[in-house]
Amino acid sequence: MLTASAYAATSPTEPLAPTTVERRDLGPRDVLIDIKYCGICHTDIHWVRGDWGEKDYPVVPGHEIAGVVAEVGPEVTTYAVGDRVGVGCMVNSCGECGPCRQGEEQYCTNGTILTYGSIDRDGTLTQGGYATHVVVDQDFVLRIPEGIGLDEAAPLLCAGVTTYSPLKRWGAGPGKKVGVIGLGGLGHVAVKIAKAMGAEVTVLSRSLAKKDDGLRLGADHYYATSDPATFEQLAGTFDLIVNTVSAELDVDAYLNLLTVNGTLAIVGATPKFSLNRSSLVRNQRAFAGSQIGGIRTTQEMLDFCAAHGVGAEVEITPAGKINEAYDRVLASDVRYRFVIDTSTLGTTS
Ligand code: NAP
Ligand code: ZN
Repeated sequence: MLTASAYAATSPTEPLAPTTVERRDLGPRDVLIDIKYCGICHTDIHWVRGDWGEKDYPVVPGHEIAGVVAEVGPEVTTYAVGDRVGVGCMVNSCGECGPCRQGEEQYCTNGTILTYGSIDRDGTLTQGGYATHVVVDQDFVLRIPEGIGLDEAAPLLCAGVTTYSPLKRWGAGPGKKVGVIGLGGLGHVAVKIAKAMGAEVTVLSRSLAKKDDGLRLGADHYYATSDPATFEQLAGTFDLIVNTVSAELDVDAYLNLLTVNGTLAIVGATPKFSLNRSSLVRNQRAFAGSQIGGIRTTQEMLDFCAAHGVGAEVEITPAGKINEAYDRVLASDVRYRFVIDTSTLGTTS
């Protein structure tokens, strides 16, 4: 058993605080990872602050993990000590159901074991990446290619695959017009990936405040959704729109921006929709959802990002400022992802 230093939430209302977490002894197929960086995803905040109902506490959040292999179990064949690796939103699944066999472990019909807040095989609550170390089955460990810094790679483990997956599935590429709603952690990576795929990319942000950034990140166009003229000007434009915002959405307004056969894919945790039948039926539009991505897709995304020089834009934060970082994410005051430097978490015993 290894005791890792960590930061945990103890209730929806208390600030996160320093703690320690026990990591299991290495099983034959386990990999011990010395975590270097962990991104702060908006999902961590939804989870910790009770937006999605009651959760178990204390919980160490964090599912954008990047680090280095420190030790491997005797049957581990894929990784060796010193390898640069990552862990995303999942740490296990049944491996036998239809979705698992298709490499879509995030839709495991027997219940995906999430990186934090899930009941693990041994009955304990999984604890995430705001920690110095983690032990993970080799099948849920990803290889971070050379050429991407571990800090800018960490957010790809969730934000990257969550946007890569729908962009790939609904055909973002040359000749396709892609809209991205919300220029935050997920949105800014979506812009970079969609551009790298060869699509014509438009940011749909609440205001023009981040326009220069959006264009620098690779967007071809940038519009403010607070301006009603945007919805007239862009009517019937997009083959695919990816919604990354967590707020309520006027789905009809965005469906009307799709061309014939266009798709509006929801990845943000939008709590409520308004949806008019005619917005869908007219022009055979599709309203779809997507959750993270399977392990194979995550590795493919990391390799794609390395090949195209895509990484997240990060602000590195010490552990002591995690609570401040949460407030700043909620205020959209980060360009564009906080990443915790885990060397500030303390030492292990
Ligand atoms: P984030 O960094 O906070 O970005 C969200 C963006 O949404 C903001 O930058 C902002 O963009 C826009 N926004 C924020 N509040 C808004 C409001 N009240 N009305 C309209 N737009 C608003 O969050 P994130 O980490 O990218 O995560 C985004 C959402 O995706 C979260 O709900 C998260 O839980 C979810 N998520 C889903 C999956 C999945 O598998 N489906 C995976 C990861 C995360 P502008 O300022 O440009 O408008
Ligand atoms: Zn996430």
